Amino acid sequence: MKPPEVLTLTPGKRVLFLTKDPGLIRRQLSGELDLRMKDLRVEDLLDDINTDAMTPAWVCFDYKPEDIARNAYAGLIVNGERLFPADALRNGNFEVIVSGYRKGVGSSRETATQCEVFSGIRIAVAASFAPIHAGNNINQGLLMADHAMLARLQAGEGVPLREFYEDHDPITQLIIREGGLFPFSKAVARGEVELPVPHNAPRPMTMGEKILARHMRGVGDDERYIKPGDAVVVDVDGGYTHEFTTAQVHYFLEQEYGSDYEIPNPGKFAVFEDHLIYADDVQRMRPFMDKIETLRTMQRSFQQHTGCRDFSAKDNISPGICHEVAREFIIDPGDLIQATDSHTCMGGVNNALAWGVGATEYANLVHSGFTTVEVSESIRFELTGTLQPNVTAKDVMLHILLHYAKPQLTLDRIIEFTGPGVRSLSLDERATLANMATECSARTAIVEADEKTFEWIAAMRPGADIDALRARAVSPDPGAEYAGGVHTVDLSTIEPMVAHPGDPDHGIPSDPTNGASVEEIGDVAIDIAYAGSCTAGKIDDFLFYHQVAKEAVDAGLRVAEGVKFYVQFGSQAVERFARENGLVDTFERAGAIVLNPGCGACIGCGPGVSEVGEQVTVSAINRNYKGRSGPGKLWLASPLTVAASAFTGRIVAYQPGMFETRSEPLRYNAATIDPNITN
Ligand code: SF4
Repeated sequence: MKPPEVLTLTPGKRVLFLTKDPGLIRRQLSGELDLRMKDLRVEDLLDDINTDAMTPAWVCFDYKPEDIARNAYAGLIVNGERLFPADALRNGNFEVIVSGYRKGVGSSRETATQCEVFSGIRIAVAASFAPIHAGNNINQGLLMADHAMLARLQAGEGVPLREFYEDHDPITQLIIREGGLFPFSKAVARGEVELPVPHNAPRPMTMGEKILARHMRGVGDDERYIKPGDAVVVDVDGGYTHEFTTAQVHYFLEQEYGSDYEIPNPGKFAVFEDHLIYADDVQRMRPFMDKIETLRTMQRSFQQHTGCRDFSAKDNISPGICHEVAREFIIDPGDLIQATDSHTCMGGVNNALAWGVGATEYANLVHSGFTTVEVSESIRFELTGTLQPNVTAKDVMLHILLHYAKPQLTLDRIIEFTGPGVRSLSLDERATLANMATECSARTAIVEADEKTFEWIAAMRPGADIDALRARAVSPDPGAEYAGGVHTVDLSTIEPMVAHPGDPDHGIPSDPTNGASVEEIGDVAIDIAYAGSCTAGKIDDFLFYHQVAKEAVDAGLRVAEGVKFYVQFGSQAVERFARENGLVDTFERAGAIVLNPGCGACIGCGPGVSEVGEQVTVSAINRNYKGRSGPGKLWLASPLTVAASAFTGRIVAYQPGMFETRSEPLRYNAATIDPNITN
């Protein structure tokens, strides 16, 4: 619904202040207390409310926003109890919710916005909002205001709608004025809205700018020049959802366009069953199996209804993680790809522009074929040199996370990887670079293409036309502008790295930017080594795991006593390679646990998760946020480090030949030697 041109508070409706004092929140929820902005300071309000606190993962197993709203703020726990009991926000008769700085940090889940909107909130007030959360609010038609505007509203003043949108780009202004993304798209379809088109003089462009300019609607071929900050309407080449997100997309489309809705290009879009497929192997997920089954059923309905490409599980085995399969079979150079997952950026390895979006945005673009984008700034990493034999692209990204993402140089920018160092890497290793752009809080990443790129895609898709792939690829123009700078990274100087699990007692969160060299972390004993995920479940990752495992097995070793070493394929293509080339045989001889393709432990939904807080995991996945893969402490590391640590029982950097030269005091357990293995 379109918001009025002048906003006032509705008589009888209430304002909820999320105060640092939980007692005040309780009294407001019970109806005993109503507060006013003039009675409070901004410092009295909660800062950094994260989206997990607003809608924890278990709440997201519901797909209807009205059901999600029943458990709004279920993650705010005080003294072991929910501060917001079920239905508390909805039953409070609130229309405004007020907090401090950085509202909506954390994951990009759109459910955080839905829980407020479907509880009756129409204005969110905060000192600042996390960018992705702010975008979700705009798409859902939730107006955002600051504390001064609230004080005026509570004083009975009308605040012009213009004040809610005037600081945004021209297209976002239109979305806010129409009341959200769906109403905006319908107005565009009816011809009621005239979309602004940037008219820039010819200028050198980055790879990201070139791809967006190529997809821009409403301009002639000689006008395809854009710059950061431009708002553009772009055609989307393709995308995908998975069983954690598809149900909402289907539901939203039915709600907006009726149960007979259609999507115009189903062959360009796909569904995957990869995230929750092994959830029933995890004890704490079992209470939610009915809801997970509903999500699967909804995804099947969506696929049958739309005729989109189907990558469902067969015989309860996933075809693979969506991002791995998408780069194998779907994404071409020069494509603009949007999918409902934050690691969609991995598609940048194919020289495409790809990033994750919320369910509303995806539903809208899959229905209309286009989306709106504010052009991001770029940052470029010019890679030189070659990696040392015990270093991988994962170490490069942990280095970039520490030195460039931590000081926010990559924030909301498009990362470009270019240079001879990129060309020295395999496509699988380049995919790791692109994959972890989201951990850098970047918009996405794109890797410059070379002949290896086209040959790799053609090898995965027999019959692909290499000349056509080459013609679609983009390179940066000389003189293109990089607001984040151009940074040379000499690959030969990178050491084996980890990201440590932080120190919550001293306010250091578990974060992928917690980089350290393996050398400097001291003696860290492990219980679990996990080898898999979209970041590290590719063929080259399996060659890394195997390189270490083979050396260990040849030296008569098995996985260290007390350690579980899980090995999980990124896709069925990876599994086929690993089985046909004897890799799986080696893993089994080493005592590793070999798992079917899929996300699994990476999202806390499969074998390999920790069970108690004392357990220590070294993992090749991409993020170590607390609780993501079980309650234990999780260290991020490269495939080589993970595999080497599995055999030593401690986090160690791999050294070629390390298991033969036993003069070094490696603390693996000699009792693990398998008498059945001959050298
Ligand atoms: S493997 Fe992990 S990071 Fe990758 S898509 Fe699955 S859950 Fe997300």
